[in-house]
Amino acid sequence: LACLFPAFTATAQDAEIQSSIKNVEKKVDSVLSLMTLEEKVGQMVQYSGTWDLTGPATGDQNQYRKEQLKKGLVGSMLNVLSVDATREAQKLVMENSRIKIPLMFGYDVIHGYKTMFPVPLGETASWDLEAMEETARISALEAAADGVNWTFAPMIDISRDARWGRIMEGAGEDPYLTSRVAEAKVRGYQSDDLSNPASIAATAKHFAGYGFAEAGRDYNTVHVGENELHNTILPPFKAAAKAGVATFMNSFNDIDGTPSTGNKILQREILKGNWDWDGFIVSDWASIAEMRDHGFAEDLTHAAEIAVKAGSDMDMEGSAYETGLVELVEEGKVNEELINDAVRRILRVKFKLGLFEDPYRYSDPKAMAQIDQAAHREVARDVAKKSIVLLKNEKNILPLSASVKNIAVIGPLADDKNTPIGNWRAQGEANSAVSILEGVKNAVGKDVKVTYAKGADLGVGEKSFLKPLEINTTDKSGFKAAVDAAKKADLVILALGEDAFQSGEGRSQVKIGLAGVQMDLMKEIYKANKNVVLVLQNGRPLEISWASENIPAIVVAWQLGTESGNAIADVLFGKYNPSGKLPVSFPRAVGQEPLYYNQKMTGRPTNPTDVTYSAYTDEEKTALYPFGYGLSYTTFNYGDLKLSSKEMTQDGSIQVTVPVTNAGSTAGKEVVQLYLRDLVASTTRPVIELKGFELVELQPGETKEVTFEITNELLEFYNSEKKWTSEPGEFRVMVGGNSVDLKTETFRLN
Ligand code: BGC
Repeated sequence: LACLFPAFTATAQDAEIQSSIKNVEKKVDSVLSLMTLEEKVGQMVQYSGTWDLTGPATGDQNQYRKEQLKKGLVGSMLNVLSVDATREAQKLVMENSRIKIPLMFGYDVIHGYKTMFPVPLGETASWDLEAMEETARISALEAAADGVNWTFAPMIDISRDARWGRIMEGAGEDPYLTSRVAEAKVRGYQSDDLSNPASIAATAKHFAGYGFAEAGRDYNTVHVGENELHNTILPPFKAAAKAGVATFMNSFNDIDGTPSTGNKILQREILKGNWDWDGFIVSDWASIAEMRDHGFAEDLTHAAEIAVKAGSDMDMEGSAYETGLVELVEEGKVNEELINDAVRRILRVKFKLGLFEDPYRYSDPKAMAQIDQAAHREVARDVAKKSIVLLKNEKNILPLSASVKNIAVIGPLADDKNTPIGNWRAQGEANSAVSILEGVKNAVGKDVKVTYAKGADLGVGEKSFLKPLEINTTDKSGFKAAVDAAKKADLVILALGEDAFQSGEGRSQVKIGLAGVQMDLMKEIYKANKNVVLVLQNGRPLEISWASENIPAIVVAWQLGTESGNAIADVLFGKYNPSGKLPVSFPRAVGQEPLYYNQKMTGRPTNPTDVTYSAYTDEEKTALYPFGYGLSYTTFNYGDLKLSSKEMTQDGSIQVTVPVTNAGSTAGKEVVQLYLRDLVASTTRPVIELKGFELVELQPGETKEVTFEITNELLEFYNSEKKWTSEPGEFRVMVGGNSVDLKTETFRLN
């Protein structure tokens, strides 16, 4: 397979790139000129693979769709779930249609295809962009072998609300970090050459604002002003567009009164206009049709008219374009140039994917068997261990010392092989992950006794995508055996958290604590044995105040994928010194949500004894564990910041340097974080914003100087004049190992 991955060599000469672009454009135009209006609209239609495409299509709809494929009136399919089926569908088009425009096959390859990697929120905690690129590259290879040539990832919705189930699918609450993740993922999925058959087209989604759903309730209305939209929500999308992401997906929500699918400003003006992006926008599942439910369109035809005018190019499983577009053009309500523009965009991506040269690309019934799954598992373990965040480690209970000879592994998730696979599991097999119990057993020698007790069920009821959950277990019958095991052990590894399907689409919750009887179990276990290491598996920040006060060690292990248990054991036993940092704030109480670090200052910031101080009367307003936070088995000390100059101009830059020392006796890796604050501006600005980070490895006693360059670009924001610009004045620069403990300096932009 090596030939499928040419090394990332220096890009070809400009002239060559320009001529290849022209070439694609010529081909696009020549295909377009052959197409009838009906065929053009067909390219804008995407069906889901609802029937077994390898067999006869039964049922009226399936018959109809099969005929449409044969006529070349479908542009893409999603969820066609086997290599044979994709090849079969492609054959229908290639052997029967007039112009033979190959289909694109889309699928949600979100955190792995067969080999499962950490859920995106968890993987982001590694802050390791190379690792994130690598997992996308592997996912692309595995998916491509199965006939998928387009993933609906990365999801780059900023989310500040742990109640929102889909917070698990994104890169967290910060626009800068999410932007870097977006670029890494696009590079990973698409490589630098989309026509490489092991590359697949990526999707920046959901455009836009979906993560700001009011009250964290999925699909809900979004109220967000222009300033916040541009400064917080859009930057990752702009980064993805600039990185050459092939497609965008719009979103279910309405935003300031307009459903995203019908939002011309977002799609035509900003994305395709200001950002000059030449890919195509697919709707979210039936989101064009859903404009009827929003009370924004009268019927399917009206919805189609609004969507196409607003710049939605492809209708995912919605029937709106199929129903209404041809007629709308014929009646003169929609200019055919809009259709041409959409089809050009779709054809462009198909050409870039190399589909016209080989509609089947790398898909081959034998391809998957040739993939080195063992190598992929190694990567899965590596990235999983890097994604783990150590929140608390009192008296250095971790890493587990050799004197621990009797370990009790307890809890509903202790031997769970399904939860680590996560929610968007693509073709990852259910119950196929290494459980914590297995990981611990793999890690210890024969002289260590490991006992297991489940203690209780998670109690979340039905466990599958989009089925309602019931979190109602009261059964404590397993407590006694668990408490007995705890009593006999030197130490307890307590595995609590969330089921795989507790976060994800349609999984919003008003409670974000430990469901069922898990709190009671934790308290009982702690009563029986104070040496407890709490290992959480979660797709969102959890409310863990009690644990944080009482339990000596806490590890956040998200849903880490196929190699989960081994990666957790690597950290618990010190084979890997944890380096993960939170990409989201953990609240003290759910009532703080939405909670995020890059807040704005109020007019009542300073006097905590004043009742009008912006605070809560019954809880601290700060995060329990802030953005960027995570411990190591060693200690990193930060020296004072040195600035190359205290003044900079808009066309210049300054360097900020900080010495970071490993003050402990273990080698470790630190994510050194750079933050900025614009002290006075024409709009209110966040009190702190991430603007850079670097991973540094340090041996015991070693000091490294880390230098960040502050350029004008880092100081720019969407200002009161609706411009991306920096404004002269004073800035604060902050560097540290999280968003709270920081070394500070100031400089002036002239
Ligand atoms: C989700 C998208 C996803 C699509 C296709 C929708 O419900 O919002 O993120 O890509 O389904 O599965």
